[in-house]
Amino acid sequence: MPKTVYADNAATTAMSDAAIEAMTPYLKGIYGNPSSLHTVGQVAKEALDKARAETAALIGAAPNEIYFTSGGSEADNQAIRSAAYAGAAKGKKHIISTAFEHHAVLHTLKKLEKEGFEVTYLDVHRHGNITAPEVEAALRPDTALVTVMYANNEVGSVLPVREIGAVCRANKVTFHTDAVQAVGHIPVDVAADNIDMMSVSAHKFHGPKGVGFLYCRNGVQLKNLIEGGAQERKRRAGTENIAGICSMVAALKEAAANLDKNMKKEAALRDKLIAGLSAIPHSRLNGDPVYRLPGNVNMCFEGIEGESLLLLLDAKGICASSGSACTSGSLDPSHVLLALGLPHEVAHGSLRLSLSEYNTEEEIDYILAEVPKVVEYLRSISPVWEELEKGGKPHLI
Ligand SMILES: *Cc1c(COP(=O)(O)O)cnc(C)c1O
Repeated sequence: MPKTVYADNAATTAMSDAAIEAMTPYLKGIYGNPSSLHTVGQVAKEALDKARAETAALIGAAPNEIYFTSGGSEADNQAIRSAAYAGAAKGKKHIISTAFEHHAVLHTLKKLEKEGFEVTYLDVHRHGNITAPEVEAALRPDTALVTVMYANNEVGSVLPVREIGAVCRANKVTFHTDAVQAVGHIPVDVAADNIDMMSVSAHKFHGPKGVGFLYCRNGVQLKNLIEGGAQERKRRAGTENIAGICSMVAALKEAAANLDKNMKKEAALRDKLIAGLSAIPHSRLNGDPVYRLPGNVNMCFEGIEGESLLLLLDAKGICASSGSACTSGSLDPSHVLLALGLPHEVAHGSLRLSLSEYNTEEEIDYILAEVPKVVEYLRSISPVWEELEKGGKPHLI
């Protein structure tokens, strides 16, 4: 039996050796401030410039379109507020998004609603996706921004970003995408995908926590969230996290170089998991069954509390998640599962297994041996399940 099976890579990933190694020269040795004019500072500045150029090349952008941030949340906040205020200055105060965005997007939108913006949250339907024509139909003359995630962190749906981007481009509406779950996992190219603004986070692709970037296309106005020094071309104040940035680039390069191989490996493990877990009676796969992240499995099991399932799996060394990492600990069912139209009883009982290329076939076999046992045990003590056995109507067939 493997010691720990880490299947919570959508929450965060282990750093790769290359990412750790890329960091150390800047922790010990190259400690300069890139804003300093002396040699020690300029050596750091060169590293920063190189990192920016490499990051840009990996997503099809120009170096001056990359703004390093503290991670995905900051990039989401900055992109959305910036585009909203730029729109408001022209009298446009309508925003289009989806009901299953990450909280970094949803909570920013909620605040903007309090400030007088109007937001249309597109329905993601039972299969957990939207279409470009649905976005087009929601456009209004006063639409300032469309913000739609590239891939969903809970249920793994991959959205038709390229088509949505084309609709936005044709209608001259700014398009932002939270690509935190996509970059490093599936092919992303900001030019081909018609993206104006994109949020990325390093710790979701084996880089360090606390670093990420915002891509903002040249010509798209960017306002700053953090006031202070002139870093990031006056758009993001604060001395740059050079060690984190260089480490992120190393992780991103590694992910790009192995993208096809990793996608194939993860998808094979994912499909094995889905097939095995779907054999459990009264279970359901959540999220888009076709357009799906290679590493995402999200299942509901009738009559079961997600939290209890997680704790029992943890006792067996399996690290998984139920709902979003940000909401676990609260008793509210996941907003993502509710957006899929699942009833509260079922939305409480989801299990997310998110894989990376570090997972092995042996680990998948172990998960497949343990999860059905735990589900069976929990059902044996579940009053909801007892009702079903007595002839109650199940939510999931
Ligand atoms: C993790 C995540 C974020 C937040 O990124 P941080 O770097 O942790 O702030 C935003 N959006 C999505 C989809 C995520 O999965």
